[in-house]
Amino acid sequence: MKNVKKEYYINGLGCASCSAKMEREIRKIEDVRFVSVDYMTKKMLIEYDIENRSEQSILKNVESSIKKIEADIYLKQIDEKKDKKSKKQDLNKNIFKRSMEDPNILKEITIIGISLILLIVSFIHYFKQYEFIICLIAYILVGFRVLKKTGSNIRNKNYFDENFLMTLATLVAFAIGQYHEGVAVMLFYRVGELLQQMAVDKSRESLKSLLDIQPEEARLVTQNITIKTPIESIRPKDIIQVFPGERIPLDGIITYGESRVDLSSITGESMPVDVKAGDEVLSGCVNQTGFLTLEVTKTNKESTASKILQLVENAAHKKSKTEKFITKFARYYTPAVLLAAALIAIIPTLVFLQPAEKWIYRSLVFIVISCPCALVLSVPLCYFGAIGTASKNGIIIKGSQYIEALENAKTVIFDKTGTLTKGEFEIISIESHESSNKENVIKYAAYAEEKSNHPIAESIKKEFKKKNKVEIFAESYNEFPGGGVVAKFDFGEISVGNSRLMKTKGIKNIPDIDKNENNTAVYVALEQNYIGRIVLSDKPKLNAKYVIKELEKAGIENVYMLTGDRQTEAEYIGKSVGVKKENIYSNLRPEQKLDIYGSIKEKSNKSAIFVGDGMNDAPVLVRSDVGISMGIAGSDAAIEASDVVITNDEIMKIPESIYISKYSKKLAYQNIAISLGVKFIIMILGIFGHATMWEAVFADVGVTIIAVLNAQRILMYKPKSSSKNKIINTGFCNKENCASEHPI
Ligand code: ADP
Ligand code: MG
Repeated sequence: MKNVKKEYYINGLGCASCSAKMEREIRKIEDVRFVSVDYMTKKMLIEYDIENRSEQSILKNVESSIKKIEADIYLKQIDEKKDKKSKKQDLNKNIFKRSMEDPNILKEITIIGISLILLIVSFIHYFKQYEFIICLIAYILVGFRVLKKTGSNIRNKNYFDENFLMTLATLVAFAIGQYHEGVAVMLFYRVGELLQQMAVDKSRESLKSLLDIQPEEARLVTQNITIKTPIESIRPKDIIQVFPGERIPLDGIITYGESRVDLSSITGESMPVDVKAGDEVLSGCVNQTGFLTLEVTKTNKESTASKILQLVENAAHKKSKTEKFITKFARYYTPAVLLAAALIAIIPTLVFLQPAEKWIYRSLVFIVISCPCALVLSVPLCYFGAIGTASKNGIIIKGSQYIEALENAKTVIFDKTGTLTKGEFEIISIESHESSNKENVIKYAAYAEEKSNHPIAESIKKEFKKKNKVEIFAESYNEFPGGGVVAKFDFGEISVGNSRLMKTKGIKNIPDIDKNENNTAVYVALEQNYIGRIVLSDKPKLNAKYVIKELEKAGIENVYMLTGDRQTEAEYIGKSVGVKKENIYSNLRPEQKLDIYGSIKEKSNKSAIFVGDGMNDAPVLVRSDVGISMGIAGSDAAIEASDVVITNDEIMKIPESIYISKYSKKLAYQNIAISLGVKFIIMILGIFGHATMWEAVFADVGVTIIAVLNAQRILMYKPKSSSKNKIINTGFCNKENCASEHPI
């Protein structure tokens, strides 16, 4: 089956509730497998089969489905380059200035202004006799667009959208002689729409500015001259220059120069870092003080900055349960309130023979507040902002569904190596069996580990390569996740790994391990014979203990640690960071980690967070409610497998991500409560004749604005704990390892 996945801009997408309706319409089309329309980004992600018919014919169907909901809309396929350019232009001005220069918004303001003046004039006693005609002119002026939209919606058999509701309410108001109300409702509806549009633009813009972390061009050095070249055409090993004050366009290694770089847009850390020749620098960082020459190490696509961009931009399509619930709720809310309006107009008049005009007027209050706008906007605005705020702090959340899972979590499960510990093994000792010697032990181990990038492998190779070179390469190589490696050479097979691997390979003469030993031991065997072992020690991250305390403050009840390492080592590390002994599981293979995750999760019906580094724990990262991986520079597989990516290896970001999620959920719930609450109060007042249409429309627009402003608070979120975490001492800090926690 041939599947096509594409992303489009929906130009002219006007209302929040329309996006959900469009999704429903498009889903009905045959061959469409998946669709997500996001109001905040105005993007549509669609997946379809092109086996039975042409892509064109499917897209034609899609377009006509969309037009059914909103007539003056068109699709545009996203062109990444142009997309970037338009971002750039947008960013230079503030939103109000820009709005004032936007001819459409100016036109809107003029229309609203004139009809507001006309409305005021119509109140003046002197013009009393012209009241109807003045109001009618004001009404047509401000309502023309809404009326026109309603017309085309009716032709498309699409009722109950905001335009229809407003048209109905205002026309009925006119019919019963309430001209001022008719005009006012239309007027304030338009004002509300305008403000809402400006606020959504602002949210969008602030996210865009967070994402504006990659220059489009780099200064490429070719034969001693530099040419500004688009980053897409630069390859690894090319040499580029970065001037002070410029952003680093691509990941690379410094070949010349010294500088201080600001990593804040990648990691959220505000402290700049000193770099010199030989250091690696990441794209997206700002080169602050010196002139640098770099050798590029990654293409644009693989570079850190564009990885972050891709992840955040796709986040809008993974919706939270609350968002889904609210769109569903809005779908029933509007018709239900409309039905109530009809009953209010009809029953008292027909059954109790009350004056029709009075009850029709009361029913209009219902029609006005049946608009779902504030409601459908209230949640996505908060979550959209939260994703932006998190990414500003070096936490990339791949969708709002994970915000909710983070918020709801009561359990955090850590992988040990590289997550709670630094993953930088120091070799404590090398021991050899009488049949061999130390040199051979480290040599054979390094030969076998050549292809592995496990932290243990890295340190063994580093130790060996201090004095030697790897001269013989393996004929075949096998990595046993959570066990070790086995490599075949012309002189025999070498196994390097833990006792479990040795057992499965049937290696003889393995020495008994000292039960009290706190370090990680790796055995080395040639063919079936044990030749020696390497004892290594890893240290917990400096702030691990503090992070675990902070997690408790953030509402986490249980912290677990899983590891493929030995029990004694695991318990030693667990004790020093504050994980309870009964919450430590050792000797696990990757698939066993998944089983344990499942059984821990079963105990509570809340979501459980798994934090890993992608090394031997990808299965759990994928399957967990929220899989958090450490390090954007890490493996693509880990980034792909996880739901949240912490851009550096700072575990403090885990409680931080929970705080951000909790805050955004709080704002979202406040918004729901405010918008539903106010609507409900107005409904009650309306039934008893205490709320006029003026109050209804004020309440409706007012609530939308309050919800929008409330949601903006998430953009001002200040990290709770990142400034404190560097001075925390876990007792493992000596001069050497306290020096720099954040090498780049
Ligand atoms: P953790 O679960 O703590 O992240 P891993 O699952 O990565 O640890 O590894 C568990 C154990 O398996 C290690 O402590 C080590 O004994 C062994 N091991 C895994 N990979 C290797 C390797 N490449 N070389 C040697 N030993 C390895
Ligand atoms: Mg691991």
